[in-house]
Amino acid sequence: MIKPVLKSKFLGALVGTGVGDALGAPFEGRFMVKPEEVEAVAEKREVLTYTDDTHMMIGVAESLIRTRGFDGKDMTYTFIQNYELEPFRGYGPGPPHIFRAIRAGAAWDIAAQELYHGGSFGNGSAMRIAPIGVFYHDNPARLREVAYKSSQITHAHNLGKDGAALQAYAIALATNLEPQLAFDRGDFLAKLINYVPAAVFKGKLSKIKGLLARPDKARVAIELGNGIEAFNSVPTAIYSFLTHPDSFAQAVLNAVSLGGDADTIGAMTGAISSAYLGIESIPNRWQQKLENRLYLKELAEKLWELKTTA
Ligand SMILES: [Mg+2]
Repeated sequence: MIKPVLKSKFLGALVGTGVGDALGAPFEGRFMVKPEEVEAVAEKREVLTYTDDTHMMIGVAESLIRTRGFDGKDMTYTFIQNYELEPFRGYGPGPPHIFRAIRAGAAWDIAAQELYHGGSFGNGSAMRIAPIGVFYHDNPARLREVAYKSSQITHAHNLGKDGAALQAYAIALATNLEPQLAFDRGDFLAKLINYVPAAVFKGKLSKIKGLLARPDKARVAIELGNGIEAFNSVPTAIYSFLTHPDSFAQAVLNAVSLGGDADTIGAMTGAISSAYLGIESIPNRWQQKLENRLYLKELAEKLWELKTTA
């Protein structure tokens, strides 16, 4: 793949997370939403504000850049410092609780295990994974290892870790594909099913082909889920991407219109879509309004430079 195409994919994955998150945020907790309503709300806003999804993704990117690759302790303290600066980003109860425990002396790779008797299987580590997905796109084994270890910081349950690795691998596959060539949904899904060990993910991914053949949003929400659990949202984001692999706007509007955990499902769909199509695929009407867009691009460029000059 030529360098400018790869660079556009790095930029896309990070900015796409932010745009998907910001478009979905006003619809968190709703059931079905019309795509036109999502468009109209974005149109009315002067700034598209992101939430914890993008805020934590920024921490992932900052830490990868600072330590030139994954360092769990550095990433943990980056999360904590960012949270303490901007606690208003809509964080769930889990991460702040863990951050306080670590500030009080708990080890970064142990603290999350105590939560919810064995760790959380929420989608909080999958939602922020885009920088890891693009940075390790050419090394599936290392990608899995880093996805698991980065998840361990806040989401220590195996299903939380597998959700993060699955989302990272979907981004990596999308990064590896040439957007000019025909997209093979069956091959994309087969690779994901093969990659993820947990049966609950394999089962949901196996349903996607049938759901794509007969579009029905209520059935998607029921069969794949639209909740905060990793297994009720990562397959849904993958499905949403696959509804329109050639259109960032259609894929993300589809994701947000499912309601539920709309910001996170929007963020994850946006990351996969623009890792495939590149940043040019994100409509300017949204890109221009995205809060801290230039900083997200700066991080993506630094990550790309680190990758391509290492
Ligand atoms: Mg959020």
